[in-house]
Amino acid sequence: MSIKPIRTRFAPSPTGRMHIGNARSALYPFLLARRLGGTFILRIEDTDQKRFVPGAEQELIDGLHWLGIQFDEGPGIGGPYGPYRQTERREIYHEHAWKLVDSGHAFPCFCTSERLDKVRQEQMKNKQNPRYDGYCRSLSIDEARQRVANGEKYVIRFKMPKEGSITVTDHLRGSIVTENAALDDSVLMKSDGLPTYHLAAMVDDQLMQITHVIRGSEWLPSLPLHAHVIRAFGWDEPVFMHLSVFLKPSGKGKMSKREAAEAIKDGHSIFLNDMKDLGYTPEGVLNWIVLMGWGVADDDVMTLNQMVERFTIDSLTPSPAAINFQKLDHFNATHIRLFSTEDLAGRIKPYFTREGLNVNDDVLLKIVPLLRERLVTLDDCLGFGSFFFKDDVSPNPEDLIAKGLDAKQSAGIAQRAYEILLAQSDISHERCEPPLRAYVEESGLNANQVFGILRVATTGQKVSPPLFESMEIIGREKCLARIKQAIEILEKM
Ligand code: GLU
Repeated sequence: MSIKPIRTRFAPSPTGRMHIGNARSALYPFLLARRLGGTFILRIEDTDQKRFVPGAEQELIDGLHWLGIQFDEGPGIGGPYGPYRQTERREIYHEHAWKLVDSGHAFPCFCTSERLDKVRQEQMKNKQNPRYDGYCRSLSIDEARQRVANGEKYVIRFKMPKEGSITVTDHLRGSIVTENAALDDSVLMKSDGLPTYHLAAMVDDQLMQITHVIRGSEWLPSLPLHAHVIRAFGWDEPVFMHLSVFLKPSGKGKMSKREAAEAIKDGHSIFLNDMKDLGYTPEGVLNWIVLMGWGVADDDVMTLNQMVERFTIDSLTPSPAAINFQKLDHFNATHIRLFSTEDLAGRIKPYFTREGLNVNDDVLLKIVPLLRERLVTLDDCLGFGSFFFKDDVSPNPEDLIAKGLDAKQSAGIAQRAYEILLAQSDISHERCEPPLRAYVEESGLNANQVFGILRVATTGQKVSPPLFESMEIIGREKCLARIKQAIEILEKM
């Protein structure tokens, strides 16, 4: 028996912004393909013209690129089973829909929406589940073809068996048995000539030789229908997996669109573009989402390559996962600490330039080791490090006054520190820290008072990276000038 090569896909609909649900639906099949030496495919499912959002496809592609999830076949790069955009495959679906009509597994339906509405209302009144009532099921193929040829509007519906049951398998949940009587004659091809998901995805998964379908749990209820469609064609089913749902941080229910949009007010978001702007790294985001539905220790720090090494579908879990932004912060900060100095410098630079700062690369490389441990998100670099790229600082005068002292006393301390620094031949932290510490000792002041004044004077802010290392990077002349400026401010107070 020959073993089929592994082929997996991410099949998003370009109907909105890319969020963490999309990202995870891309990540798992990608990991599976990479783990087993298979092929990962991107297929754009754009047959729902009403929900189509221009630009959404590009956002998905950019999002994958940002995360480092590379596809081997797909729009833009092609491949042996293209095209990979469903609206470019109309004829294929048309032909397959009619194949099912000819084999007796589907039928054209000419019912108007008025008639269908009436049927639905009647059923609801009688407390029945709304469903197609079978009106066109028994039309002969010849008559149906004639009406189609006459230009009548029609859809093609699956002819669901009325009796028996179907057993389908979800890899994470096991066998699921469904009575056929509970299933509808679902539409496979719409009156605009485009297929529904139920037809298009089944046809494409077969023609693109997909071996594993990993998708959102919203499709689980459609699995029996999908198995019917696949079997009606005489095909074998791929391995199906329906991923767990994401719950809102409280764990109570799914996040609504409004809640998702509002999370940004607290500096969080489930949308990839926002996360990028907020200073999250692809490494942090990937680590966070990979563990939402994968039954390994939930604090495991992994790079994408390490995920590939460890991934197995057998440890995916169907249990819902609550979105926990604190965990995202934790993973982001942890990965930032693992980046090399050059790498991190390249990642934080855009945040400084975005603020209009003129970034000197030598200075940038020097400050990275001072900032690294302090960053949760990349944009935290602004609060800790902008002053390194400013010609002047303008400290808040009040901040220059040390705790428990007044402006005059603080000016005196600044003056003494100035003299100590002036007496040093250079401003390396090794040279400057000991005499200033000695001054703290002999003066009876505490270190926070003396160093607090120096910190505000030289950096312009109360919180900064380590003082002496920072002063060394700022440079001797600038430090002395800034301390002078602070003395003047204090003396005027
Ligand atoms: N286009 C479907 C969606 O975005 C894809 C589901 C699937 O992966 O088959 O929900």
